Amino acid sequence: VDTWNNVPLAPEDSIFKLTATYKVDTFPQKVNLGVGAYRDDNSKPWVLPVIKAASQALFNDPNLDHEYLPITGLPEFTSGAARLILGGDSPAIAENRVCSVQTISGTGANHLGALFLSRFYDFNGPKQVYLSDPTWANHFAIFRNVGIDPLTYKYYDPKTIGLACDEFLAALASAPDRSVFLLHACAHNPTGVDPTREQWNQIADAMLQKGHYAFFDCAYQGFASGDLDGDAWAVREFVKRGVPMLVCQSFAKNAGLYSERIGALHVVGSSTEVAKRVRSQLAVLTRSEISNPPAHGARLVALILNNPELFEQWKEDIRTMASRIIEMRKELYRLLTEEFKTPGTWIHIVNQIGMFSFTGLNAEQSQALIDKAHIYLTTNGRISMAGLNTGNIRYFAENLDKVVR
Ligand code: PMP
Repeated sequence: VDTWNNVPLAPEDSIFKLTATYKVDTFPQKVNLGVGAYRDDNSKPWVLPVIKAASQALFNDPNLDHEYLPITGLPEFTSGAARLILGGDSPAIAENRVCSVQTISGTGANHLGALFLSRFYDFNGPKQVYLSDPTWANHFAIFRNVGIDPLTYKYYDPKTIGLACDEFLAALASAPDRSVFLLHACAHNPTGVDPTREQWNQIADAMLQKGHYAFFDCAYQGFASGDLDGDAWAVREFVKRGVPMLVCQSFAKNAGLYSERIGALHVVGSSTEVAKRVRSQLAVLTRSEISNPPAHGARLVALILNNPELFEQWKEDIRTMASRIIEMRKELYRLLTEEFKTPGTWIHIVNQIGMFSFTGLNAEQSQALIDKAHIYLTTNGRISMAGLNTGNIRYFAENLDKVVR
């Protein structure tokens, strides 16, 4: 007998498949708006100057070796990462009640956070998590993998191409007490629609009232607005207000360290004693899965976070990426509304934030862009703004105009 005869063929990951199709396309004007990775104005991956400088410093360090890191990661990295997201003046850090663990980028942080909840969270009934509809598709798989059932809450209103705030608040109010809600800290993927500060406060009110747990996913700090502190506002406000929470953090996008797989999980506890116990269990879980995390990305980020000069350079690099994307939003809006006079309203293109824009194109229109214009995007109408540049934006706008007419 063939042992694996009963294994069903799984579908390919749709984003990775889209990129593969793009790569073999020989059309000269082809455009890839699928993948969520930054590109410069020449469509090339960008190694941040600060990463080059930090790599050089590591290379020149005569004391560097390849010994194992501690199970919970490089301490200079995890402490710096906590300050970055929670703020240097965070009361939770000052009170020594944050437990921070190095993870395999943001995906690993989501996984470890989910696994920890699955083991130790006092679910008020079945193990469930509320995800925004829509959300990063991997969230579903990550929670299912650890036996937590994903449910969704209404987040996006296709009519306004904006936040469905009332429905979101209603979902918070009607969920059982102590439910777990996954929240995108900033630059919501895939919609690019974030709550305003006032709306975040309403969300915090509702969470406190019901004793809900906030599972923050922060994959784009700095990338959204160009300002690391501004993009961490919601997380810090929730800490200040005492909403029980954890944060998943990724350095893939904001440091351009995609393949280095560097991230962290921060669990904000109620006391030093609680944080210590949480840390001990996260170490046990990490040990059984990866023994200990990889060093290279952690060393790079630790250098940047702990060296004022490199940190300033990093902030400049982040502004370079964020402002190029914001420029592309403005230019796309200008082309559609002023030049092509494309039917429909397009103000959401400039109102949305971060790597992605939900254009409002339907599946048919999205597919037409792929088939007729060699412009690759996911069929939910999401485009990666980073794929647009001064050389291809007119071609994109012209073809978008054609498919909506
Ligand atoms: N969460 C969200 C919402 C994301 O968009 C991403 C990246 N696509 C991640 C987490 C994790 O990415 P990574 O594992 O590369 O850090």
